[in-house]
Amino acid sequence: VRVYVESYGCAQNQGEGRTLTRELAAAGHAIAEDPANADVGVLVTCGVIGPTEMRMVRRWEELSRRVPRMVVTGCLVPLRTDLLRGPGLDRTTFVPIREQSRLSSLLGEWSSHEPVPAHSAREMAPPVPPALSVAEEVVIAQGCTSHCTYCYSRLARGRLTSVPLPEVLARVTDALARGAKEIRLTSLDTSCWGEDLGGGVRLPELVGAVAQLPGDFQFRVGMMSPQSLRPVGDRLLDAFEGAKPFHFLHLPVQSGSDGILREMRRGYTVDEFRHWVCRARGRFPELMLATDVIVGFPGESEEDFRATMDLIEEVEPEIVNVTRFSARPMTPAARLPRLAPRVAKRRSRELTTLRMRVARRRFERWIGRPGLARIVEWGAEGSSVGRLPNYLPVVLAGRHPLGTVVPVRVAGARSTYLLGTTGDS
Ligand code: SF4
Repeated sequence: VRVYVESYGCAQNQGEGRTLTRELAAAGHAIAEDPANADVGVLVTCGVIGPTEMRMVRRWEELSRRVPRMVVTGCLVPLRTDLLRGPGLDRTTFVPIREQSRLSSLLGEWSSHEPVPAHSAREMAPPVPPALSVAEEVVIAQGCTSHCTYCYSRLARGRLTSVPLPEVLARVTDALARGAKEIRLTSLDTSCWGEDLGGGVRLPELVGAVAQLPGDFQFRVGMMSPQSLRPVGDRLLDAFEGAKPFHFLHLPVQSGSDGILREMRRGYTVDEFRHWVCRARGRFPELMLATDVIVGFPGESEEDFRATMDLIEEVEPEIVNVTRFSARPMTPAARLPRLAPRVAKRRSRELTTLRMRVARRRFERWIGRPGLARIVEWGAEGSSVGRLPNYLPVVLAGRHPLGTVVPVRVAGARSTYLLGTTGDS
């Protein structure tokens, strides 16, 4: 069967899409680069906010006109499948996230019992092997332990189910064998990893074990909630020592107001967020901090919003992902009275302007400094993108070999990346 896979959303969803693609290829299915050459289209969906969900629906409509058969998986399944209506529906199969591994056998059954209505051979381009990347997501858990009142992902992905340590190590080893040089340990909340497994093996031990694996690679630990960081944070910072873990912390604060954090049921205070930022930066002064903020949460007063602005100005994260509140069906926050859209829009604009200014300020501190960057992708206009040991992206002129580590000097800064030079550029 010729399969076309398209994934959206966070690192976890994209990683699951890539794993699916690999499993389908390993089971003998051909991976098509263009839906026009596929018998089956697989859409790995995201439903984080309303506009994304609508985009998924439109993409399903487009794809289902171009491929004989569709599979929809990811976060819209099963809670939001009623959004998909129309002629493509009877040619669409829904596969819940936790059942994605049965997709290759499902396609096998289709092709043996009931041949997939294929395009004519004449129309088909030759299949391509799945794209190889030097950066690979390794999913370490499904679901999370929190109860945030706005979050759809929690409903879509369910309670925490951690991938046991030996299996995580096997996944990392496989990715390294495929040529990966940057591993992204990913889940909705990495710091709760292992809580459901018992036995006291938690994220610090996982990080320590991955760092012990042989090979020339580095790894990034993904998003973690300050709430679940509490019992493991100090040990985690110990485990971050050494050259393999990127000194990078993705700690979503969501609001600078304790009142709003309570309404969100985030389970920590702004001071607790500050505490972890200070501890991490005290230990690794060059650490890169990423955080997420929701603006326009129901009940967010101007004072609450100013507290968020002040926090960002004070803490100076290198990355702030700003999302305007979007009421997700079936979540408690969806029942709360909403702010006027123009207010939320204005706050989002203000915060975005601030975050760009703050990031630029942080990034400019690097100008003139030398460092080692691992090349992880090729960018626009013949450039390469490398990652410094704290995960800061540095854009270099020229195509440097992917996966290699090159000495660089930072020559400039933008608000989302650094500009660097090498001896030969
Ligand atoms: S977990 Fe959230 S961000 Fe990730 S794909 Fe699902 S809805 Fe989108």
